[in-house]
Amino acid sequence: MTARSAPLDVLADLEGTRAWQESFYEDLHQHPELSHQEHRTAGAVAQRLRDAGYEVTDGVGGTGVVGMLRNGVGASVLLRADMDALPVEEATGLPYASTVTATDLSGAEVPVMHACGHDVHVTCLLGAAALLANHQDQWTGTLVVLFQPAEELGDGARRMVEDSLVRLVGPVDVAFAQHVLPMPSGTVGTRSGAVLSAADSMRVTVHGRGSHGSMPQASVDPVVLAAMIVVRLQTVVSREVAPTSPAVLTVGSIRAGSKSNVIDDHAVLELNVRSYDEGTRSTVLDAVRRIVTAECQASGSPSEPEFELFDRFPPTVNDPATTARVRAAFADYFGPDAQELELQSASEDFSDIPHALGVPYSYWGIGGVDAEAYRTAAAGGRVAQDIPVNHSPLFAPVLQPTLDTGTSALVVAALAWLA
Ligand code: ZN
Ligand code: ZN
Repeated sequence: MTARSAPLDVLADLEGTRAWQESFYEDLHQHPELSHQEHRTAGAVAQRLRDAGYEVTDGVGGTGVVGMLRNGVGASVLLRADMDALPVEEATGLPYASTVTATDLSGAEVPVMHACGHDVHVTCLLGAAALLANHQDQWTGTLVVLFQPAEELGDGARRMVEDSLVRLVGPVDVAFAQHVLPMPSGTVGTRSGAVLSAADSMRVTVHGRGSHGSMPQASVDPVVLAAMIVVRLQTVVSREVAPTSPAVLTVGSIRAGSKSNVIDDHAVLELNVRSYDEGTRSTVLDAVRRIVTAECQASGSPSEPEFELFDRFPPTVNDPATTARVRAAFADYFGPDAQELELQSASEDFSDIPHALGVPYSYWGIGGVDAEAYRTAAAGGRVAQDIPVNHSPLFAPVLQPTLDTGTSALVVAALAWLA
């Protein structure tokens, strides 16, 4: 028996990784890459993993990288980070701010910024991978470190799964991921059950019959039809979903017609649904289809409506037993900095990976905001106004203790299974 716990022994070396992690992070922040274009990032990740002694497979699902470290008999733990940045023009004024532009999927030249903190995730996971590789005497089992592309598009994890990820990593017992959030730096937040919402966007095309604006009797007016649909859709969340199950249904766009005296022959609506469990998700999406179809029938629409789902993210629902074990390990290591994470309205595609592997998972948040600045904002009731959130051009996690915390959290959770 050693006098100290395994996490304490492994993390005694944190100072050694901190030096390269900070410069690695600043470099990554200065060189953000859009979804599915993470070539430079993936190259740097693969190199670091090879240097640390990992078996590395790159090009998984495009730019995904998987590192494996087999260290005897025991559990297999998967740790995941996302790598992509956003088409946002950085306004932080940081010395290592991005001035990068890139060509997006539509061919447009756009500014690029790590506005969601995925550079933090990559840096922390590389640090944890190095620490665990340097201290293989403290644990046994298999460590899988996974760096995925295109979280922001919601299809990066799925593309890795479709590229035989399950065969590549073999049997896994548990999967973990984390996100830097607008909470005080140094804190880590866990939550059991639903933690992030599912998101679904739907494009609905309804058909009418075009006519002169002065002769409505010859038309089936798609503008009136679309208006009825929008009003009726307001009853889905209020009348069909239990008040204990949070859900949002927003019609964000309607397009029909081009001139005041012309009745168009179709209308296109785009809507977005957020939910926290698969049951509510299908209740809402089924209700949308039912209502649109019935309103089309009520209007005498000449052909069936069309539905197209896009930008879909699964719900993130933390396994209670897994999360309890992570939470206990965090409480041991972080003390009062280990907190309860609030339910988040954002969405993630991480859970596509544990779903494909058929394993439980836990997803937690780490703080990225200077603790003093956070306290001041909270004392003045100005957190929402003064603290930039993810995707803001001002989003700027403080380097420390953010990187140390994210690195330690991954090590502590992994060792709760491997030590
Ligand atoms: Zn994001
Ligand atoms: Zn993100």
